[in-house]
Amino acid sequence: MFSLKAKAVGSKKRAERDIVALGIAVAAIIMFLGTGSSVMPQIARSWMFGAQAPDPILINALLLNIALVVFGLRRYRELIIEIEQRRAAEEIARELSEIDPLTGCLNRRSAAPATDKLIAKTDDEVAFMMIDLDNFKLINDLNGHKAGDHILQTTAKRIREGLPAGSVLARLGGDEFACVVNFKEASPDRIDQLAADIIERTSRPIDINSVPIEITISVGISSTMSIGEAEATNPDGDTLMHRADIAMYHAKKKGKNRYFWFENTMESELRFRNDIENGIRRGIADGAFVPYYEQQVDLDTGELVGFEMLARWNSPELGLVNPSVFIPVAEEIGLISPLSESLIAQAFADAKEWDPKLTLAVNISPIQLRDPWFSQKLLKLLVKENFPPERLEIEITESCLHENIGVVKSMITSLKNQGVKISLDDFGTGYSSLAQLRTLPFDRLKIDRSFVGELNAEEACDKIVNAIIALGDGLAMPVTAEGIEDERILSALRGKGQMKGQGYHYGRPEHAADVRKRLAGLGLLVADPVSGKPIDNASSERQTKSA
Ligand code: C2E
Ligand code: MG
Ligand code: MG
Repeated sequence: MFSLKAKAVGSKKRAERDIVALGIAVAAIIMFLGTGSSVMPQIARSWMFGAQAPDPILINALLLNIALVVFGLRRYRELIIEIEQRRAAEEIARELSEIDPLTGCLNRRSAAPATDKLIAKTDDEVAFMMIDLDNFKLINDLNGHKAGDHILQTTAKRIREGLPAGSVLARLGGDEFACVVNFKEASPDRIDQLAADIIERTSRPIDINSVPIEITISVGISSTMSIGEAEATNPDGDTLMHRADIAMYHAKKKGKNRYFWFENTMESELRFRNDIENGIRRGIADGAFVPYYEQQVDLDTGELVGFEMLARWNSPELGLVNPSVFIPVAEEIGLISPLSESLIAQAFADAKEWDPKLTLAVNISPIQLRDPWFSQKLLKLLVKENFPPERLEIEITESCLHENIGVVKSMITSLKNQGVKISLDDFGTGYSSLAQLRTLPFDRLKIDRSFVGELNAEEACDKIVNAIIALGDGLAMPVTAEGIEDERILSALRGKGQMKGQGYHYGRPEHAADVRKRLAGLGLLVADPVSGKPIDNASSERQTKSA
C-alpha cells in the first residue's frame, strides 16, 4: 500500500518536472526566435563586414538561450523514450496480470472477459469447455509437484494444439482449464468432436522420469445456443463458465474421462446435492442420523439370530432418508468416518440390551478401510461401549478389495484376532477374484439381493445362487441370502442348504424402540442386573424420546 502511494507521488513529481522542462524549452525557443532574430544578423554583419559587434551581454544571453534550447530538446527526446519504455512496461504488466506463468494460458481473471470479447466479435455461437484433470491431486502427491507442473504444461500444450485458430485457452487454477471456441449453429457436433479429440490427446501417456503417466480429463460444455424455455438468453462469459462447471461436475459424477453438455436439470441436481451436503454436516451435529435394524434369521429353524444395522437420516426437511442418498455424499465430503462411528456407538448401546446370543452386523465403507487406524478405532469403541467383539460382524463390499489389499488384509486380521467377524456383502455384484476370496479370511458371504429377489423369475439367478452357495461350501464360508421378499423365495432357498437370510419377508428395518418391543415379546431382552427382570418398556420409551 505504502509503496503504491510512494510511486504515485514520485510519478506526479516527475510529471511536474517534465512540464517545467517543456515550459523552459518552449520559452527558450521563443526567446531564441526573439533575441536570435536581432542578435544573429548583428554578429554575422560584424564577422563579414567588420561592423560593430553586438553587446556582449546579448551574445551571452543568446548562448544561454541556445544551451537552453539544446537542453530542452534533449529532455524532450528523453521524455519520448521514457514514455515508450513506460508503455512497454505497462503492456508487460498487463500481460502478466492476464497470463498464467506456468502454462502461458490466460488466467482465471481474464477468462470471462476474453469469452465476452469472443461473443461480441463473432456472429457464430460460442462454446465454453471446462476441463478438469481427473485425480490430479493423487498424481501430484505420488510424483511430486515438479512432475505435476510438467503434466499441467504438457496438457495445456496438447489442448492448445487441438484448438482451432482464434480460440481462447485459459488455466482457471490448479488442474482446471477452459477453452472458448466459436461454431456454426447448424453444427454443434463440431464441439462434440473437439471435446472427444481433446480427451484423446490429453490421455496419451506423459513421460515422467522414464515412467509413462496416464491422465484423463472430465469436460463440461456450455454454449450461447438456446437450450430451453427457462434459459436466460444471451449468456455472458461468467454464466457460460458457471454452466460449464456444472456440466463438468456432472461428467465427474458419471465416472470421469468423458464430456457432457450443460442441461438445466444438472443445476437443480447440484442444488439438491448441496442441500444434502449441508444437511449432513448439520445432521451429524444434531444427532439426526439413527440406526435402524433388519432382522437376520436362520432359514432352517426360522429363529432370529441377529440384526443388521442400517443407517437412516431423520432430516427435518426431507423426512426419513435412505443411506443410498447420503452415504455416497458423506463419503465424498470426508464425513463417513465420524458418521459411521456415531451410528456404531448408538448400535452398541442398543444391542447391549438384546439377548447376548443376537449378533450385530454393521456396514463399513471402503473409505473407512483406507484409514490405517480403522481397526484400532473400532476396537477402542468396543472397549468404550463395553460391547463383546464376538457379537459384532462387519460387512464390507467387494469394492474394498480394489483398494490396497495388503492394508485391508492386515486390518481384517487384527479385527478377527479380537473376535470380530467379517462378511463379504453384496457378493456377486463386484469383481472379487477367487484368489482374493481365498487369501482374505472372510467369515461369511452375503448373496446380493439382486440374485435372491429374482430366484423364481430367472433361471440364471437360481444357477448363480447355487454357485455362490457351492463356493461358500468349498471355502468353508457360511452364506446369508439378502432380499428375501416373500414365502416363494424363502422356500426356493430352503432346499439349498443351511444358511441365514434377511429381507422384507421378515420385516422392514426398524427403529431401536420397535426392535426392543419385538425382543420383549420374544423374551430376548437382557435381564436387568439389579432386578433380574427383563428391562421394561420404560427404558424403551426413553430410547424413543432420545431418537
Ligand atoms: P446392504 O448392506 O446390502 O443392506 C441391505 C439393503 O437392502 C437395505 O437397504 C435394506 O433395507 C434392503 N433390503 C432388505 N431386505 C430387502 C428386500 O427384501 N427387498 C429389497 N428390495 N430390499 C431389501 P438400505 O437400508 O437402503 O441400505 C442400502 C445400503 O446402504 C446397504 O446395503 C449398505 O450397503 C449401505 N448402508 C446402510 N447403512 C450403512 C452404514 O451405516 N454405513 C455404510 N457404509 N453403508 C451403509
Ligand atoms: Mg450390508
Ligand atoms: Mg447387501
